[in-house]
Amino acid sequence: MLRAFLTAYPWDLIDEGVAAVLDRLHGEIGVTGLSVWIGVPPIVQLRVREVRPRVYRTRGGVFFHPDEQHYTGSRCKPVVSTWIRGRQPLKHIAEACAERAMELRVIVSAAITGRLAQRYPEMASKNVFGIESHAGVCLANPDVQAYLSGLVSDLSGRENIAGVTLADFEIAWPEAFQDDLWGAKPLGLTERSLFATCFCESCHQHATAAGVDVGMAQRSVQVILQKILDAGLATDWTLDAVLSDDAPLAEYYHWRTEELSSLLRRLVNSCKCELLLDRPFAEADRQHTDPDLSLPAAVITRLDHPDRLGSALSSAARRNELRLPESLAIAAHGPELVGALSRAVELGVTSVEIDNYGLLPDAALTPIKQAIRFARRTTSE
Ligand SMILES: [Zn+2]
Repeated sequence: MLRAFLTAYPWDLIDEGVAAVLDRLHGEIGVTGLSVWIGVPPIVQLRVREVRPRVYRTRGGVFFHPDEQHYTGSRCKPVVSTWIRGRQPLKHIAEACAERAMELRVIVSAAITGRLAQRYPEMASKNVFGIESHAGVCLANPDVQAYLSGLVSDLSGRENIAGVTLADFEIAWPEAFQDDLWGAKPLGLTERSLFATCFCESCHQHATAAGVDVGMAQRSVQVILQKILDAGLATDWTLDAVLSDDAPLAEYYHWRTEELSSLLRRLVNSCKCELLLDRPFAEADRQHTDPDLSLPAAVITRLDHPDRLGSALSSAARRNELRLPESLAIAAHGPELVGALSRAVELGVTSVEIDNYGLLPDAALTPIKQAIRFARRTTSE
């Protein structure tokens, strides 16, 4: 049977009343599980339903009470959101899910959980010009690795948690993907990916120890970026083409993939339940940023925009898990969602997540209900 998850932020569930929300999602809509954000990047959200505050704003952090014993091996400790003072959101949500036999997964942003990079600037990622990130820590940093391992172990050992999903599992300088960074210059994914390459001390040290000429790789990225900035134009280069021409940079990227894979292997080992990887769907170039995808229990292919639904579906079918954006459940896209879920099931997808309860208007719950029902019929045929 198709597992149907809805993602949600903890504050939306708690402020509306977990029991009432779950009764509706489970009883009326047919949702079988929740994926709740627990390690959260900064967010400003206009809330769809009439709850207070109407605009929810958080600098991010973790939304549960960490058990300190899991973090003794790291100088990096979880930054706890002030919102959870006097609250036990994870415990309440887990109990409410268990009472209804719903599965509960938690989602953690590995690199850009809010305030971590600001609290620990020495663990932040650094771009090719040596500028540290205010948004993200570097997953090659040993303290960050130990922290993540503690977080996975802490969360996965709690009662009624069926899965831990890692989002933003990348070694990168995340500001490279912010639109306002580039002004009017319409720069493409290849340029952004190059500029997102991290050159922090940990990356330097570990890659050098692995025999990579990091200085040459860094110089290459600087030269390529300057050429693009001088021309003021996006190129039609692919990362593949750039790397096939540049051995030190290709070796640096290869080291990065190995580093991520070895971290992922350790996280799989410290996880006491299912470990999942949230992987944004992109047509190309992902092989240079992904770790070894055969490692975790499952890989969720995340589609950010309905436009590329067809190719995302076939990609998801290879991994068995799919996450769909809220835009696919809204208004005109409703019938598309119904078709997409059935098609996903036909292709072999066994589990679907739909984003995000607090951002979904009530009107979007009807297409979700139809899509789940229709997809189940496809399964039983
Ligand atoms: Zn780094």
